[in-house]
Amino acid sequence: DAMQADSTTTATCGYCATGCGLRLHVREGEAIGLTPETDYPVNLGMACPKGWEALEVLNSENRATHPLLREPDGRMQQVTWDTALTTFTKRFKEIQAKYGNESVAFLSTGQIVCEEMAFLGALAKFGMGILHGDGNTRQCMATAVTAYKQSLGFDSPPYTYEDFEQSDCLVFIGANPCIGHPIMWERVLRNQKSPEIIVVDPRRTETAMASSQHLQLRPKSDLALLYAITNHLIAANLIDYDFVNANTEGFEELAAHVSEFTPEVVSDRCGISVLDIRRAAESIGRADAASLWWTMGVNQSYEGTRVAQAIINIALITGNFGRPGTGANSITGQCNAMGSRLWSNTTNLLGHYRFESDQDRDRVANNLGIDVDRIPNQGSWAYDEIVEGIRQGKIKGLWVIATNPAHSWIHRGDFRELLDQLEFLVVQDMYDQTETAKHADLVLPAAGWGEKVGTFINSERRYGLVKKVRKAPGEALADFQIFRAIAAYWGVGDLFSEWTEPEAVFRILQRLSEHRPNDITGIDGYAQLDACGGIQWPYTKAEAEEQSPPRQQRRLFSDGIFFHESGKAKLIVDQVFPMPEPPDENYPFLLLTGRGTVSQWHTQTRTENSKVLRKLYPQQPYVEIHPRDAQSIGVVNGDVVNVRSRRGSINVTSMVTPTVQRGQVFIPMHYRIVNELTLAHFDPHSHQPSYKDCAVQISRE
Ligand code: SF4
Repeated sequence: DAMQADSTTTATCGYCATGCGLRLHVREGEAIGLTPETDYPVNLGMACPKGWEALEVLNSENRATHPLLREPDGRMQQVTWDTALTTFTKRFKEIQAKYGNESVAFLSTGQIVCEEMAFLGALAKFGMGILHGDGNTRQCMATAVTAYKQSLGFDSPPYTYEDFEQSDCLVFIGANPCIGHPIMWERVLRNQKSPEIIVVDPRRTETAMASSQHLQLRPKSDLALLYAITNHLIAANLIDYDFVNANTEGFEELAAHVSEFTPEVVSDRCGISVLDIRRAAESIGRADAASLWWTMGVNQSYEGTRVAQAIINIALITGNFGRPGTGANSITGQCNAMGSRLWSNTTNLLGHYRFESDQDRDRVANNLGIDVDRIPNQGSWAYDEIVEGIRQGKIKGLWVIATNPAHSWIHRGDFRELLDQLEFLVVQDMYDQTETAKHADLVLPAAGWGEKVGTFINSERRYGLVKKVRKAPGEALADFQIFRAIAAYWGVGDLFSEWTEPEAVFRILQRLSEHRPNDITGIDGYAQLDACGGIQWPYTKAEAEEQSPPRQQRRLFSDGIFFHESGKAKLIVDQVFPMPEPPDENYPFLLLTGRGTVSQWHTQTRTENSKVLRKLYPQQPYVEIHPRDAQSIGVVNGDVVNVRSRRGSINVTSMVTPTVQRGQVFIPMHYRIVNELTLAHFDPHSHQPSYKDCAVQISRE
């Protein structure tokens, strides 16, 4: 039978950070089908539609198959790899010679494997003398990273997925796992403890509908609400003072700060009754094991870092850390955003060291066998600063890898204009028809998930293996091979003589991690990752001597010791800031953005290539609008409406639904247009864009 597989193998899914295990059915070395892996400790035999369709999107006609170079007349012309790499090197070197090394930057991703991320970061910064590079993880996880680092001493999501099943009270803040992380939600449904499920979200999302308490707050009143919950926890004497005294710093300041945020004071501001605020606080405070989970509703906010820390504070003062079913738990978005956080060599030196520290630079240089002078002594500009650098003419050359900022960057119309100001733009991607690739001077065709080897780190810190079960189309190469080739053409191949294949780089990463919070020196190579369903960091040599393979579900901080020098976690508070662009007479609605359906992924470069997935979501971009608002502007379901902000205007189909509150509208982020409207403003601590709060007007077309 031509359709019969002759073997199977497993690999971690390459979309979201749940990191499901997929069993690939292989015939003559090529995957011909897949099923969810039943033994994998993450998904226990389940997968969402994106995972089921993971192979299909590799077959697309939109795949980049050959290097493309822009001709003087503007057309893209197919060229050889030799021409592409010679041009890459010549143009970027010319720009650096003319304007200084800092004039070339890179924008990377949470979509490629750790080994490629590390290679890119090391090649760019230690090999090519590039100073500024950042990842699209700035758009999703930077806030959680900053919050964890300041509060706990390291970027350290503490949980394991079993916590979904072991919690008596789960609080989801700005998170809609039914849509964003469906398999995690399935884990919640396996919870046998009849848990309280509290959802804090301005929309009545699918998750909110399944909750036992929905705090449908006014947008951006989350910080005040969390301080009020903290206030009531103290007032109702629901604090774990043993834990607070032994394991935290700053409780008195916290108590003083939140004393003004009584439920009575914040009730109006949040649009939540005093009773509901108290009830939520008491559910958290009285639970044996409470866990608090957050995603983009928190991270993508102009005060997101402080909101995330308000969540961390609540878990800390109630002693909900380090035990089963507890934690202040940031859920990651992209399959390898966590890898980017640890290994991208952008704002942190490779492996979460500091560029500014001589000692750290020495350690990394010795480890890699390179001259320490090759390591810059300052961190990179953040994404928004790189964008500003282009505007000011300081950045003239840009290399974009596996991300699509011409769609996803906040206020993208402006961003597209900036791309055209560049002297040379290189886009390295699986698809050559992305909005960003359309602006490129050079396109480098990359292999995708399933066509290459390496590791992803999922939300619960689990390294999982990605395998090659397909041949990349045409002349597309694994990003790893592209980086190797660029190193050679740039003349720095010698620096990377040890970086021969992904597993060799994995060993380098293990070495760099030694004695760090993210120590993975205990992992016995890819074979062990494969054999035991992935391994969560940390897993040290000492642990491996005690127990190998490791337990499948491990959480951080079970000893109550945090990563600050004092060993204590810090309780951090701040003032509450007003929304930068509140609705007014001219722009009376507030625009919320977010994930639309389970079947769409980010800017859809992949998901739009599956016929099955396309059937599962509306093809036309739409806006959710409350029935009474629709009535007041004379719109019925399905009408085309014009949505306008101070920056742009788009036409979308109306979806009249009470899931949004009056005065608010929601447009999914997956369609190409919503960032025509958004306002470029950022969290000052994390530099993460605040996507979910700009004022718009709506009228019937
Ligand atoms: Fe893949 Fe995420 Fe879906 Fe799991 S939930 S199958 S990791 S996209």
